[in-house]
Formats: sequence, structure tokens, C-alpha cells
Amino acid sequence: MSIQEHVNTVKETIAAAARAAGRDPGEITLCAATKVQTDDTIRQAIAAGIAVCGENRVQELTAHLAAGAYAGAQVHFIGHLQTNKVKQVVGKAALIHSVDSQRLLQAIDSQAGKLGLVQDILLEVNIAGEESKGGCTPQEAEELAALAEGMDHVRLRGLMAIPPVSPEPGANRPFFAAMRQLFVDIKGKMAHNQDDMDCLSMGMSGDYADAIAEGSTLVRVGTALFGPRPPMTKQ
Ligand SMILES: *Cc1c(COP(=O)(O)O)cnc(C)c1O
Repeated sequence: MSIQEHVNTVKETIAAAARAAGRDPGEITLCAATKVQTDDTIRQAIAAGIAVCGENRVQELTAHLAAGAYAGAQVHFIGHLQTNKVKQVVGKAALIHSVDSQRLLQAIDSQAGKLGLVQDILLEVNIAGEESKGGCTPQEAEELAALAEGMDHVRLRGLMAIPPVSPEPGANRPFFAAMRQLFVDIKGKMAHNQDDMDCLSMGMSGDYADAIAEGSTLVRVGTALFGPRPPMTKQ
């Protein structure tokens, strides 16, 4: 199948999952996870109707930006972000999905301040409490949200999670439901920026229909659009 066919299929699946949940398909953003893809493949995906690309690695983001590969789309940063690489991402990514510590939050606010802009961010929550994964605890997310609200150069748009890759269909639904509840709780506690909280980033190739059933507003899909990738090495 061509990228165009994959994009069409994924969009149809998203729309069907939304309708099955009584939701408007227009509420859900498809973000193409473009890690390891070439400039050319990214351009093809955008020509096929992808409006948001998500990058994991600063190096790939920088190279694709330099090549103009994202022309016609937005780019988000969805991978683990080291504080010392914040400069290469702030002001370049429309949304940073992976904020999970006070130190990183402060570094983003400070860099955005230097550039005179407001950086949109999500807090990444390690909702399954997995040792090996990034993301903060739900409790820390509440604290970080309160901190972010007091900052001039970040705008908290919502939450993101990467639950375990599970062989069982439907196994991640409780994690997605817990994320949805946390999102509602955090939004409810915000003093004045509740309206900015409009993004719940969850769901990947294996489980995006379930994530949509549980309230996802943005799904990050790689394999179902581009086919299998070689395994990732640690950054
Ligand atoms: C790779 C990646 C995805 C997409 O994964 P697939 O299973 O290939 O759809 C989504 N989110 C993040 C953060 C990723 O690194």
C-alpha cells in the first residue's frame, strides 16, 4: 500500500472510532510519528494529508527542518527531551509533548523567554508506572501544571502518555481512562488557564482506536502509516 492509502485507512479508523464513541471526528488530530523516516517520505506523507508530524529526536528534527521537509505541516516534539537540547526545540516545535520534570519545564520557559515567545507544552505522565520509561507521576503532573500556570513563556495545553505496548487488544483502556480522568482533574484545578487545556495525546498504531474511545484528542501513529521500523537505539 502507498502512504496515501495508509493515511486514508488511518483517518477512516480514527473517524469510525470517534463516531462509535459519540464524538466528532474533527476533535481528533492525527500526528504522524516520523522517526527514522527520510525527508522524501515526510514530504509524501504531508502531500497525502498529514498536517502534523511528531519527531522523537532532536537531531532528526534539526535535519528535517534544515531540509524544509515539514513544509505544509506542523511539527511536534514527542520524544524524551534533555534539558541541554531545549534550545534546539523551543520555538521550532509547535508543541512539546514530553515535559516531565521541573528542571525541563524551567529550561523551556527560560529559553522561550529569551526568544520572546510562548511555547505550547504537554506534561508526559508515566501512567503505568513503568521503571524504564520517561514521564512523571500523576501527582507530579498536578504540581508541574500548577508551576506551568505561573510561568510567562509556557502554555500548558494538556497531557501525554505512552502506556505499555501490549499484545492484548484493549489492555491499555484502563490507562487511557486514567489519563482522561487526570486531565479533567488537572484542568479543573487550574486557576485561570483552563481553556488552554485542549489536548490529550495518547494512542499509537496498536491502540489508537481504544485511546479515542477513552477521550484522546491526538493520536501519534508511526507504523500504521509508514510500516515497520528498525528497532530504536537509546538516545
Ligand atoms: C514511535 C512513537 C509513536 C508511534 O509508534 P507506532 O507504534 O509506530 O505507531 C508514538 N509516540 C511516540 C512518543 C513514539 O516514539
